[in-house]
Amino acid sequence: MKKYYLKKESQKTIKKAVGLSYYNRQAFFKEKNIDEEDYKKKMTSIRKKAFDDFEANLKKAKNNLKKRGFNIYEAKDSEEAQNLLKKIIGKDKKIISSKTNTGREIEIKKVLEKLDWNETDLGDFIVKFFKENDEHFVLPAIHISAEMIATKIKEKYGDNIAVDPEDLTHYLCSKIREKILKAEVGITGANFFTEDGQVVLLENEGNISLVSRFPRKHIVICGIDKLTKTIKDAVDLCQTAALFGTGQDITQYISIISGPSKTADIENQLVLGAQGAHEVHIILVDNKRREMIKKGFEDLLRCINCGACINFCPVYNQKGSHYGGEGYIGSKGIIFTAIQDSLKSARRSGSFNCTLCGACSENCPMKIELHEKVRKIRAEQEIKGIQSLANKEMLEKIKKDGNPFGKNANDNKIPDKLYCC
Ligand code: SF4
Repeated sequence: MKKYYLKKESQKTIKKAVGLSYYNRQAFFKEKNIDEEDYKKKMTSIRKKAFDDFEANLKKAKNNLKKRGFNIYEAKDSEEAQNLLKKIIGKDKKIISSKTNTGREIEIKKVLEKLDWNETDLGDFIVKFFKENDEHFVLPAIHISAEMIATKIKEKYGDNIAVDPEDLTHYLCSKIREKILKAEVGITGANFFTEDGQVVLLENEGNISLVSRFPRKHIVICGIDKLTKTIKDAVDLCQTAALFGTGQDITQYISIISGPSKTADIENQLVLGAQGAHEVHIILVDNKRREMIKKGFEDLLRCINCGACINFCPVYNQKGSHYGGEGYIGSKGIIFTAIQDSLKSARRSGSFNCTLCGACSENCPMKIELHEKVRKIRAEQEIKGIQSLANKEMLEKIKKDGNPFGKNANDNKIPDKLYCC
């Protein structure tokens, strides 16, 4: 795997942001006189409700989404999801999207790159503007400085913008808005969908609200695990995601979408398709989630994508999105891709990078014992002969020389390679 570390300045910025989010979270619990552990238990039990009789709950959700006017599709894997996406987009050419983890998982880029496609999350837009890959889950453009952005704007648009984050943000957001206004299709993920048939999205920038409302067609891509029992559960969990992700007591926006826009303003005749999206499609992706349940990883599906696990991961904070070599993110990503049982997916997922320190589990509001899952996966992979090169070398040295560092272990020199089990 290619070795890659974030720049020192990026690491410093991330550390500061994570420290602040932790401080704000603690301040919230103190001010409200809430015990953090009790809060985690309560939210975990809310989340678990969706998984008691999961298939029956999912069936109800699909029926209710349909009744509300959603077009529903199920994809068993990435290929099926990509094909569905192509089919729904049809002849439309101008596409906008907001950050979607499931979209990333099913590699929507493969479908969208051939079209006139624009990202609307500012960080992702900047990364695409520079034709680069994102470096961090929460701060994708952390490696690109304000000065670099101002220079690029001058090159591409001929405009002189001050090297100031505020001016640059306003300038680029106006460019993004131009794309939003022309788009025919908007693609978003979903933080949750409810048994009552609503899609719930949370955000700070405001782009997700625009992507889901401005274009005629709105396509939602999300995992089947995003199911919650009630809208109240979903909103409570949105607060949890904000609190553990960025230390906010709530995000700037929460959208609850219950189908296409509608009106009955002319002769009281109900018309679907008014100011917001005229069509809403939802692709529910399995992509091994049901298999995760079978393999005893069902608690991982409780994940609400708050990002706390990766915020506090000492390896992720050094390597960023290069954690797994090819941009897979977070501990959930590690496990999710590692269950695919191949050396390639284990390497890509980054399961070999984990130090098993447990910082992820400690900070997870859904009380997911992530590092224990990694340990379990490693044991299973070892039985199947899937292991990292370093591990292989270490075992060979133990067998041959009786210690992990080889025959020169006692010569008082620091070994060339240190191994961690
Ligand atoms: S595993 Fe836990 S900490 Fe990590 S993103 Fe999911 S809910 Fe948040």
